[in-house]
Amino acid sequence: MNVDFKSAAGAIIAPMVIEPPEIKSVGVIGAGQMGNGIAHVCALAGLPVTIVDIKQEALTKAMDIMARNMERQVHRSIITSDQRDEALARVKSSTDYAAFTDVDLVIEAATEKEDLKRLIFKSLIPNLKPSCLIASNTSSISITRLGAVTDRAEKFIGMHFMNPVPVMKLVEIIRGIATDEPTFQAVKNLAQNLGKVSAVSEDFPAFIVNRILVPMINEAVYALYEGVGSVSGIDTSMKLGANHPMGPLELADFIGLDTCLSIMQVLHEGLADSKYRPCPLLVKYVEAGWYGRKTGRGFYDYTQTPPRPTR
Ligand code: NAD
Repeated sequence: MNVDFKSAAGAIIAPMVIEPPEIKSVGVIGAGQMGNGIAHVCALAGLPVTIVDIKQEALTKAMDIMARNMERQVHRSIITSDQRDEALARVKSSTDYAAFTDVDLVIEAATEKEDLKRLIFKSLIPNLKPSCLIASNTSSISITRLGAVTDRAEKFIGMHFMNPVPVMKLVEIIRGIATDEPTFQAVKNLAQNLGKVSAVSEDFPAFIVNRILVPMINEAVYALYEGVGSVSGIDTSMKLGANHPMGPLELADFIGLDTCLSIMQVLHEGLADSKYRPCPLLVKYVEAGWYGRKTGRGFYDYTQTPPRPTR
């Protein structure tokens, strides 16, 4: 990247090249479905990874899921068993942010709640070296607002991976108003090194993918709520009628109904338009603790094989 400097007389005196920092190690916050997927792809790309979660059991589960997902990749000849073993050996876990002292980039992938993420960034900062970049994997929350909580808004950026991370090609990159160019380039280079394609989104509620996808899911829940169709009627219609690989309710369960509701709330509050009103049935499912696959029940009951529609 070239930056031209002008002398007092106005002549250009020398172009200064600011190289983006190279990311050689990564910290991940949150060992849920996204955190373990992000750790998975970083470790396979040769980067040492440290995952931190508040719950030790979430860390144990994440390591187990990562090993099983890599095993599946070995069976499909996507990676070799040596690559799997080397990648797994690169992943460490901890319940303490002190484990991030030397990392070059921390990617936050904790629960989609702004208050929680703000608290995380405040406790995280004292543990980082000054040059460490911070990315949030938030699905919807303002990168500018989250960056402002930190001591380094210029080194703060949105890096929105898709679920499941080892399979999905896209990473949305979102600059906050203060994000500097070397940070943007560093994260873009990292996405490329992870084998991903990046798309740039402006910092508006839910960015590109979820601005379009999640209102569609919310509309499917309204169709269920109003009795337009049953769970399987709605999902079959969208799979066979619109050629979607998954029905919207199946997809909602896969994303997590708590995450879908949080995204709708961010859209509703951030854009102040009633078309983004979260469906009351979605609210009720989340209040019941029916978050989808991760809790065993959502629009489908996952204790049955195959999963049984609940309405
Ligand atoms: P999840 O519920 O599977 O996992 C969240 C994890 O965060 C849990 O393990 C929880 O213990 C941990 N956590 C909570 N508070 C914490 C804290 N203070 N410190 C450390 N860890 C903490 O959620 P997820 O689906 O992995 O989503 C995580 C983030 O990724 C959210 O911001 C979400 O919007 C985003 N995202 C989700 C998807 C998706 O399809 N689910 C896709 C892209 C982005």
